[in-house]
This record gives sequence, structure tokens and C-alpha cells, in this order.
Amino acid sequence: MVALTAIFLGTSSAAPTKDRSLPAIALQREGELLLMDCGEGVQREILNQGLGLNRDTTVLVTHLHGDHVTGLLGLLQTMSMAQRTKPLSIVGPPKLLKWLEVTSELLHIGLTFPIRFSPARPGRVFRTKGFTIKVARATHSIEAYSFVAEEQARPGVFYPKKAKALGVPEGKLWSKLQKGRKVRIGTRVVAPSDVTGSTRPGRKVGYSGDTRPSARLARFFAGCDLVIFDSTFSGRDREKAVERKHSTCVEAAELARRAGARRLALTHFSARYTRVSSLVREARRVFPNTVAASDGMRIEVGYPPS
Ligand SMILES: [Zn+2]
Repeated sequence: MVALTAIFLGTSSAAPTKDRSLPAIALQREGELLLMDCGEGVQREILNQGLGLNRDTTVLVTHLHGDHVTGLLGLLQTMSMAQRTKPLSIVGPPKLLKWLEVTSELLHIGLTFPIRFSPARPGRVFRTKGFTIKVARATHSIEAYSFVAEEQARPGVFYPKKAKALGVPEGKLWSKLQKGRKVRIGTRVVAPSDVTGSTRPGRKVGYSGDTRPSARLARFFAGCDLVIFDSTFSGRDREKAVERKHSTCVEAAELARRAGARRLALTHFSARYTRVSSLVREARRVFPNTVAASDGMRIEVGYPPS
């Protein structure tokens, strides 16, 4: 099984704490990285987690608040110091490119690699080596986006009995069929659909960024294997969440339940909570399969039971 791992690099909100860095999450699959938001010092967290600076990487920026984006500049500089040559893909609000251009010029930052920037817009779909990335509008105090990263569909279950019945000998030809290619047996052609079940959807991970909950996001995250959601406040501080356009842990749990998600990771905790165990308890009353993200935590995203 190909591993799909969410690695939490920073789980605080606007201010870092002794235990939590600013928001950043890496999604790792077969050497490819999706980096969701870039809080300050993100390159150090990447090094700490052994993720490397020269991989196939796509940076997804949810919105242009400092805690989510100021780390990008340092990351670009450190990547250049490491002599990165591979292009770096960046998806984010259209003004992100302007900010990068202006600051790079003012600070005389010369990059050793090209940037491929794509503006985020609701409904846009991007494809990387291993993922399809979808974009939806989030509800925050400024233009903000949420993302879903979905693996390509997997081939269906392989039925050896059917292959044998059609005269396909075990070995190379079986693996060809499992990879979705036709094989020839004498004058007959055997298609993958003759010996496998229907294709199975890939795993799906959703990330909210900063947002109020909404029916739109519940639909957007439908069927996600893992939802990573804004949990700035406890349910007891809902008024603050409404005022500052964030979510509470209970609202995150309600959304995960409505979306039919398999698992929820709470993140982006306000520095006012020195312990978040009570926030997890509140959320679990609504959506039992909830965890609180912490810096350095890894979540292996499994396949749904078939
Ligand atoms: Zn934030």
C-alpha cells in the first residue's frame, strides 16, 4: 500500500507558543509533498521532519494572513541555498504572486529554481503527479480558500480465478492487467475489466484553512478520509469564533459529521488554550473519530474498508 501521511509542522493560530509553531501541514505521498500553508519558520520544521527541500512540491496557501504565508519567503530562500533546481508549484490567492515579486525584488532574493504560480479560484482543479487538488471558497475575514487533495482512482480488486479461467498465466501478464493494461493470449485480448472489479476512489484529505463552518464546505469535504479543520476556539467561546471568522472545535466536529468524513484532526488552536484536551472532548461528543493535531504529529491516512 502506498503511504499517504499528513505531517503537522505547525498547529498554533496567529501567535506561536512554546509548543506550537505557526500553521503548516505537509501531505506526503511517494516522495511528493503538498505543503498546506507556510507559517514562519516552516523550512526548519520541514528539516526537522526529514522532508527535504528538493522534492516535487506544491504549496497551497489558503489566504494572505501573516501566520499562513510569511514562512513562504524563508522557505524559498532556504530552498535556493540548498540549490534546488526543480520548479516549485504554488497555488494561492492571486495577490500572493505580487507579494512574492515585490519582496523578492526588495530583499534581492535570487531563486535557483522557477516558480509555477496558479491563482486559486473556487471550483478550480489542479493536477500534480499523484493528486487532484480542488479549491472552494472559505468564509474568513479576507479572501480565503479551502482545499481537497485526492489521489487518482485505484484499479479495482484483481480476481485470480477469472484470470486463470481466461487462460492468463500467473506472472508478468497478471501484473500488466493489475496496472490497467490489456494482454493478448493467442488471438484473444483480455482486458483489465474482464479480471478486476470496478475502480476504487483514491484517498481524500481536506484542509479548511481559517474559516467559519458552512454548508458549502460540508459538501466540499464530503467523503474525505481525513478532514483537517480550523479549531481556533472551544465551543464555549463561540461568540469569539463568529466575530473573528473562525470555527470552534464543536463546529469543526459538526461539519465533519455532516460531510460523512472518516476522521477529523483539529488544528489552529488559539494560544489561550494551554491544553487542548477539553476541546477534543467537546468535539468527540459530536464526532467521535477526532484528534487534536500537535507539532510533529503524523497521521497515516488508510484506505476505507471495501
Ligand atoms: Zn490563521
